[in-house]
Amino acid sequence: MNCLGIESTAHTFGCGIIDDKGRILANVTDAYKTEKGGIHPTEAKQHHENAKDKVVEDALKAANLKPEDIDLISFSQGPGLAPCLLVGLKKSTELAKKLNIPIVGVNHCIAHLEIGKLLTKAKDPVLLYPSGANTQVIAYDGGKYRVFGETLDQGVGNFIDAFARYIGLGFPGGPKIEKLALQGKNYIELPYVVKGMDVSFSGILTNLKQKYDSKKYNTEDLAFSLQETVFAMLVEVSERAMAHCNKNELVIGGGVGCNKRLREMCTIMCNERNGRFYAPPNEVMVDNGLMISWLGILQRKQATTNYNSLDIKPYERTDDVEVKWR
Ligand code: AMP
Ligand code: MG
Repeated sequence: MNCLGIESTAHTFGCGIIDDKGRILANVTDAYKTEKGGIHPTEAKQHHENAKDKVVEDALKAANLKPEDIDLISFSQGPGLAPCLLVGLKKSTELAKKLNIPIVGVNHCIAHLEIGKLLTKAKDPVLLYPSGANTQVIAYDGGKYRVFGETLDQGVGNFIDAFARYIGLGFPGGPKIEKLALQGKNYIELPYVVKGMDVSFSGILTNLKQKYDSKKYNTEDLAFSLQETVFAMLVEVSERAMAHCNKNELVIGGGVGCNKRLREMCTIMCNERNGRFYAPPNEVMVDNGLMISWLGILQRKQATTNYNSLDIKPYERTDDVEVKWR
């Protein structure tokens, strides 16, 4: 069985194809980028409109498959930006109708976790999901993927992007801050905000902006200190979730998970508690259609040909989803 999955929650329009044995057949993405500002939902939607047909065509080509070889369609129904989600819903329903095959809507955050499990062979991990709009620590317990800790305001990626934008770097800012941080030498103290199992970034952002405006600090040191501080916060709550759930595997998934320093800190923490840290390849760390196709395979029993029953769920939470496939 081949599943074609479509991702369109935010900046990326992606199409992945995978079979029910977990064999990867294609993973094509086209991401909206800007030189200066952040994501403008209407522009991102327009980007997806322009990209969608070619991305799907390219994925089929890469997989060496004809549309008729696809047995199931999946799409990310949420959480995400409504205008962007609608493009994915429309494209995937059109395809499913044309091919007369079932379709299933899946949760984007859970897709990160499941593709991480597939590709790293971790069995029952805690997931650290640090992405643009989301930042959560998730683990399976009692029939659902539960959120053990999360951001109380913006996602860590959006926080890094906002600071990058403030100092004149474009979107995405994460990789640029990572480069700058490598040249930082002095740690500048920043607020460290962990509240129970949750984290918060908006106060740190304000503090960083004030420090930057004061011209008393060099930008490389600020970038370095930003990473050291907020990554320590993420590692602290991940470790606490591992201890609480008595799990010894940590998987990372989400765009900020591409960051080498964050991975290094996760590795150190896991080693210190005799656990194991797993990082899947970067192509599934960022938003992608492959993870959507794999969750489609896992949720195939919930697929439908009642195409009118489908909708987007911009605010769907990880723990709204009943996990029936484990
Ligand atoms: P996602 O929403 O999961 O696709 O992730 C996008 C976010 O990941 C954006 O906020 C990027 O700035 C961030 N990002 C990508 N690469 C890196 C990196 N190397 N270091 C830190 N953040 C990154
Ligand atoms: Mg994501």
